[in-house]
Amino acid sequence: MVGRYDRTDKRPGKLTRRRQLSHEERKQIYERMDRRCAYCGQRLEYEDMHVDHVKPLAKGGPDIIPNMVCSCEYCNRYKGSRDVESFRRAIYRSLGALERDSLAYRNSIKYGLIRRTHAPVIFYFERKERRCKYKWKRKKSHWPKY
Ligand SMILES: [Zn+2]
Repeated sequence: MVGRYDRTDKRPGKLTRRRQLSHEERKQIYERMDRRCAYCGQRLEYEDMHVDHVKPLAKGGPDIIPNMVCSCEYCNRYKGSRDVESFRRAIYRSLGALERDSLAYRNSIKYGLIRRTHAPVIFYFERKERRCKYKWKRKKSHWPKY
């Protein structure tokens, strides 16, 4: 039987099967991301985690563990078959949509209840990578000089 998530190739009749992950593989993906959504960073219960292909299968991403991260349901659905940069642009666009369409949002800005930060969208896995590089550099600076 083919589940609804098995169809990644949009051409009729073409099905690309995703590999079934074992419990150990899912746990490995979950722990690698500190039990958080790889995109928004929200803490995740193991039962609630979704597995996302960072480079989507639909765009030729490999169906291998290094291309998989855990994410919350919301980020997984919102990202869909976008790649990371398209996902980032979609998040920026959602702010534009709020400004355009939501009177509640515009009033909240106007009365100082919320404030625009113009902060860049940096995903949790990117912040995590930066921390790892920083730690590595720090450690390296403490290495003895020969
Ligand atoms: Zn998320």
